Amino acid sequence: MPKTKLPRLAACDDLAGKYVLLRASLNVPIVDGRVSNQFRLVRALPTINYLRQRGARIIIVAHIGRETDDTLAPVAEAMRASVPVTFVSEVTGPAVVTARESMQDGDVIMLENVRQHPKETDDDGSFASELAQLADVYVNDAFAASHRPHASLVGVPRHLPTYFGLNFMHEYDELSHAMQPQEPSLFILGGAKFDTKLPLVEQYLDTYNHIFIGGALANDIFAARGLEVGTSLVSGVDLSSNPILDDERIITPIDVVVDGPDGRRTTPPDAVRKDEQILDVGPESIALLSPMIHAAKSVLWNGPMGNYEAGYNQQTEALAHIVASAPGYAVIGGGDTIAAVESLRVQEQIDFMSTAGGAMLQFLQTGSLPAIDAVVGTD
Ligand code: ADP
Ligand code: MG
Repeated sequence: MPKTKLPRLAACDDLAGKYVLLRASLNVPIVDGRVSNQFRLVRALPTINYLRQRGARIIIVAHIGRETDDTLAPVAEAMRASVPVTFVSEVTGPAVVTARESMQDGDVIMLENVRQHPKETDDDGSFASELAQLADVYVNDAFAASHRPHASLVGVPRHLPTYFGLNFMHEYDELSHAMQPQEPSLFILGGAKFDTKLPLVEQYLDTYNHIFIGGALANDIFAARGLEVGTSLVSGVDLSSNPILDDERIITPIDVVVDGPDGRRTTPPDAVRKDEQILDVGPESIALLSPMIHAAKSVLWNGPMGNYEAGYNQQTEALAHIVASAPGYAVIGGGDTIAAVESLRVQEQIDFMSTAGGAMLQFLQTGSLPAIDAVVGTD
Protein backbone atom coordinates (compact mmCIF):
# COMPACT_ATOMS: atom_id res chain seq x y z
CA MET A 1 0.00 0.00 0.00
CA PRO A 2 1.21 3.54 -0.69
CA LYS A 3 2.72 5.56 2.07
CA THR A 4 0.18 7.94 3.54
CA LYS A 5 2.09 11.13 4.22
CA LEU A 6 4.30 12.81 1.68
CA PRO A 7 5.40 16.42 2.11
CA ARG A 8 3.19 18.30 -0.34
CA LEU A 9 4.09 21.66 -1.81
CA ALA A 10 1.15 23.27 0.01
CA ALA A 11 2.99 22.58 3.29
CA CYS A 12 5.81 24.93 2.27
CA ASP A 13 4.49 28.32 3.30
CA ASP A 14 7.40 30.63 2.73
CA LEU A 15 8.48 30.63 -0.90
CA ALA A 16 8.89 34.35 -1.61
CA GLY A 17 12.44 35.11 -2.73
CA LYS A 18 13.52 31.50 -2.18
CA TYR A 19 15.53 29.61 -4.75
CA VAL A 20 13.64 26.43 -5.63
CA LEU A 21 15.36 23.56 -7.43
CA LEU A 22 12.47 22.03 -9.35
CA ARG A 23 13.02 18.53 -10.73
CA ALA A 24 10.51 18.37 -13.56
CA SER A 25 9.51 15.62 -15.98
CA LEU A 26 10.05 17.12 -19.43
CA ASN A 27 11.12 14.09 -21.44
CA VAL A 28 8.98 15.00 -24.45
CA PRO A 29 9.48 13.78 -28.03
CA ILE A 30 11.46 16.13 -30.31
CA VAL A 31 11.00 16.02 -34.08
CA ASP A 32 13.19 18.23 -36.30
CA GLY A 33 14.30 20.25 -33.28
CA ARG A 34 10.77 20.98 -32.06
CA VAL A 35 8.58 19.52 -29.31
CA SER A 36 6.08 17.27 -31.09
CA ASN A 37 3.94 16.33 -28.09
CA GLN A 38 3.13 18.72 -25.26
CA PHE A 39 1.58 16.22 -22.81
CA ARG A 40 4.33 16.23 -20.17
CA LEU A 41 5.09 19.89 -20.67
CA VAL A 42 1.49 20.90 -19.99
CA ARG A 43 1.44 18.76 -16.86
CA ALA A 44 4.56 20.50 -15.56
CA LEU A 45 3.02 23.99 -15.72
CA PRO A 46 0.77 24.02 -12.60
CA THR A 47 3.73 23.63 -10.22
CA ILE A 48 5.79 26.22 -12.09
CA ASN A 49 2.90 28.69 -11.97
CA TYR A 50 2.23 27.91 -8.31
CA LEU A 51 5.86 28.68 -7.43
CA ARG A 52 5.94 31.83 -9.58
CA GLN A 53 2.78 33.21 -8.01
CA ARG A 54 4.43 32.88 -4.61
CA GLY A 55 7.55 34.72 -5.71
CA ALA A 56 9.96 31.79 -5.80
CA ARG A 57 13.03 31.80 -8.05
CA ILE A 58 12.72 28.60 -9.98
CA ILE A 59 15.64 26.57 -11.30
CA ILE A 60 14.30 23.73 -13.43
CA VAL A 61 16.33 20.53 -13.62
CA ALA A 62 15.18 17.83 -16.06
CA HIS A 63 16.40 15.19 -18.51
CA ILE A 64 15.53 14.42 -22.10
CA GLY A 65 16.15 11.60 -24.56
CA ARG A 66 18.63 8.77 -24.38
CA GLU A 67 21.76 10.31 -25.86
CA THR A 68 24.07 12.38 -23.67
CA ASP A 69 24.05 15.23 -26.19
CA ASP A 70 20.25 15.49 -26.28
CA THR A 71 19.30 19.05 -25.36
CA LEU A 72 16.42 20.65 -23.48
CA ALA A 73 16.68 23.84 -25.56
CA PRO A 74 13.58 23.03 -27.68
CA VAL A 75 11.64 22.30 -24.48
CA ALA A 76 12.52 25.71 -23.03
CA GLU A 77 11.48 27.24 -26.34
CA ALA A 78 8.11 25.44 -26.26
CA MET A 79 7.57 26.37 -22.63
CA ARG A 80 7.99 30.06 -23.46
CA ALA A 81 4.50 30.00 -24.98
CA SER A 82 3.21 29.70 -21.39
CA VAL A 83 5.99 30.88 -19.04
CA PRO A 84 8.97 33.20 -19.55
CA VAL A 85 11.95 30.90 -19.08
CA THR A 86 15.66 31.46 -19.61
CA PHE A 87 17.61 28.48 -20.88
CA VAL A 88 21.13 27.88 -19.54
CA SER A 89 23.14 25.58 -21.81
CA GLU A 90 25.11 24.06 -18.90
CA VAL A 91 24.16 21.77 -16.01
CA THR A 92 26.69 23.20 -13.55
CA GLY A 93 29.49 25.75 -13.56
CA PRO A 94 29.91 29.52 -13.98
CA ALA A 95 27.11 29.99 -16.55
CA VAL A 96 24.63 28.50 -14.07
CA VAL A 97 25.94 30.63 -11.19
CA THR A 98 25.74 33.82 -13.28
CA ALA A 99 22.18 33.06 -14.44
CA ARG A 100 21.17 32.32 -10.87
CA GLU A 101 22.62 35.56 -9.55
CA SER A 102 20.59 37.68 -11.95
CA MET A 103 17.25 36.07 -11.04
CA GLN A 104 14.37 38.09 -9.57
CA ASP A 105 11.38 36.75 -7.63
CA GLY A 106 9.14 34.73 -9.97
CA ASP A 107 11.88 34.18 -12.56
CA VAL A 108 12.41 30.77 -14.14
CA ILE A 109 15.61 29.30 -15.54
CA MET A 110 16.00 25.86 -17.07
CA LEU A 111 19.34 24.06 -16.89
CA GLU A 112 20.59 21.82 -19.70
CA ASN A 113 19.70 18.09 -19.77
CA VAL A 114 20.89 16.87 -16.37
CA ARG A 115 21.95 13.55 -17.89
CA GLN A 116 24.62 15.41 -19.86
CA HIS A 117 26.43 15.42 -16.53
CA PRO A 118 28.23 12.08 -16.15
CA LYS A 119 27.59 11.99 -12.40
CA GLU A 120 23.79 12.26 -12.59
CA THR A 121 23.00 8.63 -13.29
CA ASP A 122 25.28 7.13 -10.65
CA ASP A 123 23.87 9.36 -7.90
CA ASP A 124 27.24 10.90 -7.19
CA GLY A 125 27.21 12.66 -3.83
CA SER A 126 29.34 15.61 -4.89
CA PHE A 127 27.11 16.33 -7.89
CA ALA A 128 23.96 16.12 -5.76
CA SER A 129 25.37 18.60 -3.29
CA GLU A 130 26.50 20.90 -6.12
CA LEU A 131 22.92 20.99 -7.41
CA ALA A 132 21.56 21.45 -3.90
CA GLN A 133 23.83 24.44 -3.30
CA LEU A 134 21.93 26.33 -5.97
CA ALA A 135 18.73 26.39 -3.93
CA ASP A 136 16.96 26.77 -0.57
CA VAL A 137 14.20 24.27 -1.29
CA TYR A 138 13.87 21.19 -3.50
CA VAL A 139 10.61 20.28 -5.23
CA ASN A 140 10.25 16.94 -7.00
CA ASP A 141 7.52 17.11 -9.65
CA ALA A 142 9.05 14.39 -11.85
CA PHE A 143 6.97 11.34 -10.96
CA ALA A 144 7.74 9.71 -14.33
CA ALA A 145 11.50 9.76 -13.57
CA SER A 146 11.31 8.90 -9.87
CA HIS A 147 11.98 5.18 -10.32
CA ARG A 148 15.56 6.16 -11.21
CA PRO A 149 18.02 6.42 -8.31
CA HIS A 150 19.77 9.41 -9.89
CA ALA A 151 21.46 12.35 -8.17
CA SER A 152 18.79 14.92 -9.08
CA LEU A 153 16.07 12.61 -7.73
CA VAL A 154 17.43 10.78 -4.70
CA GLY A 155 20.64 12.71 -3.95
CA VAL A 156 19.41 16.31 -3.71
CA PRO A 157 16.75 15.61 -1.03
CA ARG A 158 19.56 14.58 1.34
CA HIS A 159 20.63 18.22 1.38
CA LEU A 160 17.49 20.37 1.15
CA PRO A 161 13.98 20.68 2.58
CA THR A 162 11.96 18.65 0.09
CA TYR A 163 8.38 18.83 -1.17
CA PHE A 164 6.49 16.96 -3.88
CA GLY A 165 4.93 19.07 -6.63
CA LEU A 166 1.36 19.20 -7.89
CA ASN A 167 1.90 16.88 -10.86
CA PHE A 168 3.79 14.40 -8.68
CA MET A 169 1.02 14.28 -6.10
CA HIS A 170 -1.66 14.05 -8.78
CA GLU A 171 0.10 10.94 -10.14
CA TYR A 172 0.62 9.59 -6.64
CA ASP A 173 -3.00 10.07 -5.56
CA GLU A 174 -4.59 8.70 -8.72
CA LEU A 175 -2.31 5.66 -8.98
CA SER A 176 -2.83 4.96 -5.28
CA HIS A 177 -6.54 5.00 -6.03
CA ALA A 178 -6.03 2.55 -8.91
CA MET A 179 -4.22 0.23 -6.50
CA GLN A 180 -7.47 -0.15 -4.57
CA PRO A 181 -10.10 -0.75 -7.25
CA GLN A 182 -13.80 -1.06 -6.66
CA GLU A 183 -15.50 -4.24 -7.90
CA PRO A 184 -16.16 -5.18 -10.60
CA SER A 185 -12.73 -4.19 -11.84
CA LEU A 186 -10.71 -4.79 -14.98
CA PHE A 187 -6.97 -4.42 -15.56
CA ILE A 188 -6.00 -4.20 -19.24
CA LEU A 189 -2.36 -4.85 -19.97
CA GLY A 190 -0.71 -4.64 -23.38
CA GLY A 191 2.53 -3.50 -24.96
CA ALA A 192 5.71 -5.52 -24.97
CA LYS A 193 8.43 -6.84 -22.62
CA PHE A 194 6.43 -9.38 -20.63
CA ASP A 195 9.44 -9.99 -18.41
CA THR A 196 8.93 -6.48 -16.93
CA LYS A 197 5.15 -6.85 -16.61
CA LEU A 198 4.77 -10.45 -15.38
CA PRO A 199 5.26 -9.58 -11.66
CA LEU A 200 2.46 -7.04 -11.95
CA VAL A 201 0.14 -9.63 -13.50
CA GLU A 202 0.84 -12.10 -10.72
CA GLN A 203 0.33 -9.48 -8.05
CA TYR A 204 -2.79 -7.85 -9.53
CA LEU A 205 -4.66 -11.13 -9.97
CA ASP A 206 -5.79 -10.69 -6.40
CA THR A 207 -6.40 -6.94 -6.78
CA TYR A 208 -8.50 -6.77 -9.96
CA ASN A 209 -11.35 -9.18 -10.79
CA HIS A 210 -10.05 -9.75 -14.32
CA ILE A 211 -6.87 -9.05 -16.26
CA PHE A 212 -6.97 -8.79 -20.04
CA ILE A 213 -3.60 -9.45 -21.63
CA GLY A 214 -3.20 -8.07 -25.16
CA GLY A 215 -0.48 -6.56 -27.31
CA ALA A 216 2.74 -8.51 -27.79
CA LEU A 217 2.33 -9.88 -24.23
CA ALA A 218 -0.41 -12.17 -25.49
CA ASN A 219 2.07 -13.75 -27.94
CA ASP A 220 4.06 -15.12 -25.01
CA ILE A 221 0.93 -16.72 -23.61
CA PHE A 222 -0.10 -18.18 -26.96
CA ALA A 223 3.41 -19.62 -27.44
CA ALA A 224 3.42 -21.07 -23.91
CA ARG A 225 0.08 -22.72 -24.66
CA GLY A 226 1.73 -24.39 -27.63
CA LEU A 227 0.12 -22.27 -30.36
CA GLU A 228 1.96 -21.21 -33.51
CA VAL A 229 2.90 -17.52 -33.28
CA GLY A 230 4.89 -17.35 -36.52
CA THR A 231 7.28 -14.41 -36.60
CA SER A 232 5.45 -12.45 -33.85
CA LEU A 233 7.31 -10.44 -31.24
CA VAL A 234 7.79 -12.48 -28.05
CA SER A 235 9.70 -11.48 -24.94
CA GLY A 236 11.26 -14.84 -24.21
CA VAL A 237 9.89 -14.94 -20.67
CA ASP A 238 9.44 -18.52 -19.48
CA LEU A 239 5.74 -19.09 -18.80
CA SER A 240 5.84 -22.88 -18.98
CA SER A 241 3.99 -24.30 -15.98
CA ASN A 242 3.09 -20.77 -14.85
CA PRO A 243 -0.38 -20.91 -13.25
CA ILE A 244 -1.49 -17.75 -15.09
CA LEU A 245 -1.80 -19.88 -18.26
CA ASP A 246 -4.92 -21.59 -16.89
CA ASP A 247 -6.16 -18.89 -14.55
CA GLU A 248 -9.80 -18.07 -15.29
CA ARG A 249 -9.30 -14.48 -14.19
CA ILE A 250 -6.91 -13.92 -17.10
CA ILE A 251 -8.54 -13.08 -20.43
CA THR A 252 -6.57 -13.34 -23.68
CA PRO A 253 -7.56 -12.23 -27.20
CA ILE A 254 -10.07 -14.44 -29.02
CA ASP A 255 -8.95 -13.05 -32.37
CA VAL A 256 -5.80 -11.39 -33.68
CA VAL A 257 -4.75 -9.32 -36.69
CA VAL A 258 -1.82 -10.87 -38.54
CA ASP A 259 0.26 -9.86 -41.54
CA GLY A 260 2.21 -12.17 -43.83
CA PRO A 261 2.66 -13.28 -47.43
CA ASP A 262 -1.13 -13.38 -47.87
CA GLY A 263 -1.52 -9.87 -46.49
CA ARG A 264 -3.37 -8.63 -43.45
CA ARG A 265 -6.13 -10.81 -42.03
CA THR A 266 -8.02 -11.41 -38.80
CA THR A 267 -7.90 -14.92 -37.39
CA PRO A 268 -8.47 -16.92 -34.22
CA PRO A 269 -5.17 -17.23 -32.31
CA ASP A 270 -4.94 -20.96 -33.02
CA ALA A 271 -4.81 -20.46 -36.80
CA VAL A 272 -1.74 -18.23 -37.15
CA ARG A 273 0.66 -19.46 -39.84
CA LYS A 274 4.43 -19.92 -39.55
CA ASP A 275 5.19 -17.00 -41.86
CA GLU A 276 2.70 -14.60 -40.24
CA GLN A 277 3.12 -12.02 -37.52
CA ILE A 278 0.52 -11.03 -34.91
CA LEU A 279 0.37 -7.22 -34.91
CA ASP A 280 -2.90 -6.29 -33.19
CA VAL A 281 -5.71 -7.90 -31.26
CA GLY A 282 -8.87 -8.45 -33.27
CA PRO A 283 -12.24 -6.61 -33.12
CA GLU A 284 -14.05 -9.51 -31.46
CA SER A 285 -11.66 -9.38 -28.53
CA ILE A 286 -12.49 -5.71 -28.01
CA ALA A 287 -16.21 -6.49 -28.40
CA LEU A 288 -15.80 -9.12 -25.68
CA LEU A 289 -14.25 -6.54 -23.36
CA SER A 290 -16.76 -3.79 -24.07
CA PRO A 291 -19.56 -4.96 -21.69
CA MET A 292 -16.96 -5.69 -18.99
CA ILE A 293 -15.55 -2.18 -19.31
CA HIS A 294 -19.03 -0.65 -19.17
CA ALA A 295 -19.89 -2.67 -16.08
CA ALA A 296 -16.59 -2.01 -14.31
CA LYS A 297 -16.31 0.46 -11.44
CA SER A 298 -12.53 0.57 -11.94
CA VAL A 299 -10.49 0.16 -15.12
CA LEU A 300 -6.70 0.36 -15.24
CA TRP A 301 -4.99 0.22 -18.64
CA ASN A 302 -1.29 0.10 -19.54
CA GLY A 303 0.18 -0.90 -22.90
CA PRO A 304 -1.09 -0.62 -26.50
CA MET A 305 -3.02 -3.54 -28.01
CA GLY A 306 -0.85 -3.66 -31.13
CA ASN A 307 2.13 -2.36 -33.03
CA TYR A 308 0.41 1.05 -33.28
CA GLU A 309 3.46 2.94 -34.65
CA ALA A 310 3.38 0.74 -37.76
CA GLY A 311 -0.32 1.36 -38.39
CA TYR A 312 -1.77 -1.42 -36.25
CA ASN A 313 -3.58 1.05 -34.01
CA GLN A 314 -7.21 0.17 -34.74
CA GLN A 315 -7.99 -1.89 -31.66
CA THR A 316 -6.00 0.36 -29.31
CA GLU A 317 -8.11 3.26 -30.56
CA ALA A 318 -11.36 1.30 -30.34
CA LEU A 319 -10.47 0.35 -26.78
CA ALA A 320 -9.69 3.98 -25.88
CA HIS A 321 -13.13 5.10 -27.08
CA ILE A 322 -14.84 2.38 -25.05
CA VAL A 323 -12.88 3.19 -21.90
CA ALA A 324 -13.62 6.90 -22.40
CA SER A 325 -17.35 6.33 -22.81
CA ALA A 326 -17.71 3.94 -19.87
CA PRO A 327 -19.00 5.31 -16.55
CA GLY A 328 -16.43 3.74 -14.18
CA TYR A 329 -13.23 5.26 -12.85
CA ALA A 330 -10.49 4.82 -15.46
CA VAL A 331 -6.74 5.30 -15.35
CA ILE A 332 -4.54 5.00 -18.44
CA GLY A 333 -0.76 5.13 -18.42
CA GLY A 334 2.46 4.26 -20.22
CA GLY A 335 4.51 6.36 -22.63
CA ASP A 336 3.43 4.41 -25.69
CA THR A 337 -0.15 4.02 -24.53
CA ILE A 338 -0.57 7.78 -24.13
CA ALA A 339 1.14 8.40 -27.48
CA ALA A 340 -1.26 5.93 -29.13
CA VAL A 341 -4.46 7.47 -27.76
CA GLU A 342 -3.55 11.14 -27.40
CA SER A 343 -4.77 12.28 -30.79
CA LEU A 344 -8.23 10.82 -30.09
CA ARG A 345 -9.10 13.64 -27.69
CA VAL A 346 -10.46 11.24 -25.10
CA GLN A 347 -8.47 12.89 -22.33
CA GLU A 348 -11.39 14.83 -20.82
CA GLN A 349 -13.42 11.64 -20.43
CA ILE A 350 -10.67 9.59 -18.79
CA ASP A 351 -10.33 10.15 -15.05
CA PHE A 352 -6.55 10.12 -15.16
CA MET A 353 -3.86 9.75 -17.80
CA SER A 354 -0.48 9.04 -16.23
CA THR A 355 2.62 10.66 -17.74
CA ALA A 356 4.68 7.76 -16.42
CA GLY A 357 5.76 4.43 -17.93
CA GLY A 358 8.32 2.49 -15.91
CA ALA A 359 7.61 4.59 -12.82
CA MET A 360 3.91 3.80 -13.07
CA LEU A 361 4.56 0.05 -13.23
CA GLN A 362 6.98 0.17 -10.32
CA PHE A 363 4.64 2.30 -8.22
CA LEU A 364 1.67 0.00 -8.92
CA GLN A 365 3.82 -2.91 -7.82
CA THR A 366 5.39 -1.50 -4.66
CA GLY A 367 3.38 1.61 -3.70
CA SER A 368 6.61 3.61 -3.69
CA LEU A 369 9.55 4.78 -5.79
CA PRO A 370 13.24 5.37 -4.98
CA ALA A 371 12.73 9.16 -5.03
CA ILE A 372 9.93 8.80 -2.48
CA ASP A 373 11.97 6.48 -0.26
CA ALA A 374 14.80 9.03 -0.39
CA VAL A 375 12.52 11.53 1.36
CA VAL A 376 10.33 9.52 3.70
CA GLY A 377 12.45 6.38 4.11
CA THR A 378 11.37 2.80 3.50
CA ASP A 379 8.85 1.54 5.99
P1 ADP B 1 3.97 1.59 -22.56
O1 ADP B 1 5.09 2.50 -23.03
O2 ADP B 1 2.63 2.19 -22.81
O3 ADP B 1 4.16 1.09 -21.16
P2 ADP B 1 5.25 -0.70 -23.76
O4 ADP B 1 6.49 0.08 -23.89
O5 ADP B 1 5.19 -1.85 -22.85
O6 ADP B 1 4.01 0.27 -23.49
O7 ADP B 1 4.87 -1.34 -25.18
C1 ADP B 1 4.67 -0.57 -26.33
C2 ADP B 1 5.24 -1.25 -27.53
O8 ADP B 1 4.61 -2.51 -27.73
C3 ADP B 1 4.99 -0.44 -28.77
O9 ADP B 1 6.24 -0.20 -29.38
C4 ADP B 1 4.13 -1.36 -29.64
O10 ADP B 1 4.44 -1.28 -31.02
C5 ADP B 1 4.51 -2.71 -29.11
N1 ADP B 1 3.53 -3.74 -29.44
C6 ADP B 1 2.33 -3.97 -28.92
N2 ADP B 1 1.73 -5.02 -29.49
C7 ADP B 1 2.59 -5.49 -30.42
C8 ADP B 1 2.57 -6.59 -31.34
N3 ADP B 1 1.53 -7.41 -31.44
N4 ADP B 1 3.66 -6.75 -32.11
C9 ADP B 1 4.73 -5.94 -32.03
N5 ADP B 1 4.80 -4.90 -31.18
C10 ADP B 1 3.74 -4.68 -30.39
MG1 MG C 1 6.99 2.10 -23.83
